[in-house]
Amino acid sequence: MTSTTIPTPEVWFLTGSQSLYGPETLDQVAAQSREIADRLATRTDAGVRIVWKPVLLDAVSIHRQMLDANSSPECVGVIAWMHTFSPAKMWISGLDALQKPLLHLHTQAGVALPWSTIDMDFMNLNQAAHGDREFGYIQSRIGVARKTVAGHVDSPAVAVRVSHWARAAVGRSALRQLRLARFGDNMRDVAVTEGDKVEAQLRFGVSVNTYGVNDLVAVVDQVPDHEIDKLVTEYADTYRVAPELLPTGDRHESLRYGARIELGLRSFLTEGGFGAFTTNFEDLGGLRQLPGLAVQRLMADGFGFGGEGDWKTSVLLRTMKVMAHGLPGGTSFMEDYTYHLVPGEEKILGAHMLEVCPSITSSQPSLEIHPLSIGDREDPVRLRFTADPGAAVVAGLSDLGDRFRLTVNEVDVVEPDEELPQLPVACAVWQPHPSLSTSAESWLMAGAPHHTVLSKAIGVEVLDDFAEMTGTEMLVIDAETTTRSFQRELRWNAAYHRLAGGL
Ligand code: MN
Repeated sequence: MTSTTIPTPEVWFLTGSQSLYGPETLDQVAAQSREIADRLATRTDAGVRIVWKPVLLDAVSIHRQMLDANSSPECVGVIAWMHTFSPAKMWISGLDALQKPLLHLHTQAGVALPWSTIDMDFMNLNQAAHGDREFGYIQSRIGVARKTVAGHVDSPAVAVRVSHWARAAVGRSALRQLRLARFGDNMRDVAVTEGDKVEAQLRFGVSVNTYGVNDLVAVVDQVPDHEIDKLVTEYADTYRVAPELLPTGDRHESLRYGARIELGLRSFLTEGGFGAFTTNFEDLGGLRQLPGLAVQRLMADGFGFGGEGDWKTSVLLRTMKVMAHGLPGGTSFMEDYTYHLVPGEEKILGAHMLEVCPSITSSQPSLEIHPLSIGDREDPVRLRFTADPGAAVVAGLSDLGDRFRLTVNEVDVVEPDEELPQLPVACAVWQPHPSLSTSAESWLMAGAPHHTVLSKAIGVEVLDDFAEMTGTEMLVIDAETTTRSFQRELRWNAAYHRLAGGL
């Protein structure tokens, strides 16, 4: 599955000026802004094409440009830079109409001032220092959501920050077109996996709908044997398959049924245009196994997933996988499962019943079968592995009734202290910043969920940009967090979001 349904997402590079400078200066503005856009294109790494647009000189063309951006399926966002002074009343109707994410790039054509040769021609050409201040004012006056990045485009920090924003914009764009299939409803009586699907579609664009699990079973049951033969061979080539699951083993039929689920599920999702899904072990209809291996492999191919009907986590996982496209590290469905509370060594062991994505390991998973102590089905096949160590984020989306809240914790994935020979599922072990107690206290005070997305590919800034673009509250738990400061932030956010939401 590709990163997004758009073949090559575009970010449009807009340059503001005005006609009074005359054609000679405006030609220089055009040539220099095109060069800035080209340099940005070679320095950013977000899988987007940066498309330079002719310099904007008046309100009518600015408004038309923004309407074009809104209606272009390829355009995921716009970058705006005021090379010269561009009187900002000209931008009011355009900015008011813009429905795509905006990045205000505050830059300048050259790095060093040519001190000994500066004349008024130079001064008239290089005016971003005050032109962008005029533009900042009108954005603030209108209340336009945007990211502001200042610095020369040759600065690696600028390229990184623009890349993060572009990744968030691609994620937002994919989310607006995302269709999610739920097989069965939520796990009975569970609160946090519920949520307002109408509000989610309005705010994020995602369409969430439920299918009877036997609609899936009908497809699974029709998978031809020769396709199963082929997939089982692929498993043998890809994983360390437990001997009992091999063609000569006495549980081979369970592996074949696992392959049948994968083929049926993949076909149902692909033909229906779904990029994300959920299952529920309480509602398996005619499925003989809880889908484990199938879910793990579909996640690895970019599908979003949430267990127990958790569509919000599935949506978040798909979106983060799109944002992470092409980056090393991997991104998975996750659940805080159990703690190691030895003082000074505190760690979280994360796992799920079966469904952890193998993108978070570089080792070869083993393909095994074990009993599932919950539910009433046949033993499910699953991949077992341990996540690679390294920096990561754990992110969770909760519905507070009047808004969605994205809570993000910076963590370090670590090696388990010892081997885990009896643990029959894939897992990740991590140490949360700033400490397990402050992280857990903050997470609980935020009402953040037990199902999360663990990503080693993208960090806080991409999620922060995404939250800004979608008007979603975001809370970060990192090395700087204290429970007192976090408690205050929760109170301020509650007031802010209720005011910002209007009466
Ligand atoms: Mn769960």
